[in-house]
Amino acid sequence: MTSYPGGRAASIPLMGHEVEPTIFELSVPGRHAFQLRTTNVAPVPLADLVPAAHLREAPVALAEVNERDLVGHFTRLTHRQFSVDLGAYPLGSCTMKYNPKFCDAVANDPGWNSVHPGVPAALCQGWLELMVMLEHQLCAITGMAAATLQPSAGAAGELTGLLLMRAYHQANGDVRKRILIPDSAHGTNPASVTLGGYEVTTIPSNDRGLVDFAAMKAALGPDVAGIMLTNPNTVGLFEEEIVEIAAAVHEVGGLLYYDGANLNAILGAVRPGDMGFDVVHMNLHKTFATPHGGGGPGAGPVAVSQRLVEFLPGPKATKLDDGSYDWRTPSQSIGRVHGWHGNALVLARALAYINVHGGDGLAKVAQHAVLNANWLRHRLRDTLPAAYDRPCMHEAVLTASALKSRYGVRGLDVAKALLEEGFHSPTVYFPLIVDEALMFEPTETESLQTLESLAVSIEKIAALAITDPKRLMHAPQTTPVSRVDEARAARQLVSTEDAANR
Ligand SMILES: *Cc1c(COP(=O)(O)O)cnc(C)c1O
Repeated sequence: MTSYPGGRAASIPLMGHEVEPTIFELSVPGRHAFQLRTTNVAPVPLADLVPAAHLREAPVALAEVNERDLVGHFTRLTHRQFSVDLGAYPLGSCTMKYNPKFCDAVANDPGWNSVHPGVPAALCQGWLELMVMLEHQLCAITGMAAATLQPSAGAAGELTGLLLMRAYHQANGDVRKRILIPDSAHGTNPASVTLGGYEVTTIPSNDRGLVDFAAMKAALGPDVAGIMLTNPNTVGLFEEEIVEIAAAVHEVGGLLYYDGANLNAILGAVRPGDMGFDVVHMNLHKTFATPHGGGGPGAGPVAVSQRLVEFLPGPKATKLDDGSYDWRTPSQSIGRVHGWHGNALVLARALAYINVHGGDGLAKVAQHAVLNANWLRHRLRDTLPAAYDRPCMHEAVLTASALKSRYGVRGLDVAKALLEEGFHSPTVYFPLIVDEALMFEPTETESLQTLESLAVSIEKIAALAITDPKRLMHAPQTTPVSRVDEARAARQLVSTEDAANR
């Protein structure tokens, strides 16, 4: 068994083990977390419930552990993790803001979470009302006409949006082939375009980190279905020529897609609809506070301008003339993009979050997020300079390229060393167009004192780059897991179940 050096690891009781065993290594045949009492009710034979073709031939090899070992195992694992509840998590583009417990309280209410999605509309009017209210709020925030709440993540929202654009062009008898995407775009954008059946045309950024308008105009043509943009873009800068960009794309009959995964910079300040966008997806799990990471849960609603309303996925919660609610499917709907109505409890959390930030609360969220990012950018100007020296929006893209050329210390080393300081790392090597990029997104939820501690830690790391660069190249050493080979895990997959059966 591998052993890891570790200060923090040593403080976790491991009961004689050097590292936490896998759940399969804790397994003892025949052990259960709980046992159902035997009753005199005869069980229904499984074959009566599940068609024979779908029955397993052999029982699935699950770990067999008692409740005490199960809880101990997962509790110890949580102590090896960094989380938003533990401390600052400035992972750019991910908007890892602190999630108020109030929203969890709403989602934990059995009135919301004990309703089966297949319940008839007449018996869950409250849920339908919640969805109509949320759709209304999201449209007000983005300046759009209607929205679907079905997509369960940002990338799923992107695909939905592209299918909507395709349906719109097809309904106009218009076959188009290409989508324009700037080279600073989030990786999911080109992936979604390909899945949506379009080709990507990459638009270069200019030396100010913005879309090169002349290059974009030159790439436009009658075969362009639209353009996908993030504004502020992934370098954290606002596309100043957005109105001109929108006019040029609309002129050739194309549509504008807004990647609104992170609305943290623009809430209550500007609206994609007013900039000329036709489709916007939002990550409720980023901007509207739902714990996320590790693959879910999330919600990626898509809001659209008037011309796309009738293509939206259905069924949609709809308010009828008599004041009641029912499911309705738009006339030219692209169909379902989710088995049911979306990740409903994420929707409930988001509405709770929006409602507690009533009045100018959401605008303050954006103001504080932008202020925090700019404070950090300015505070670190002599240690890690900004990639583009101008005010940023909700995230600051800094570069470690000077540390690399002078001392051989890379952005990755700085990020890893920060873990030892008790902070989560920033996003590294994204956006791709910035050398040794370190993308900090402090969000509005961190205090000035926390930001100052973060800056002091980064200065300490930068000083080490001069005196002991080797030390940084082997960081982190005081965390439960030290420096890992990030590529090997992906290239040589070993599932824990296989490992346990070896
Ligand atoms: C996070 C993010 C996405 C993807 O969202 P998922 O919910 O992870 O699928 C897309 N675009 C941007 C700009 C993002 O930050």
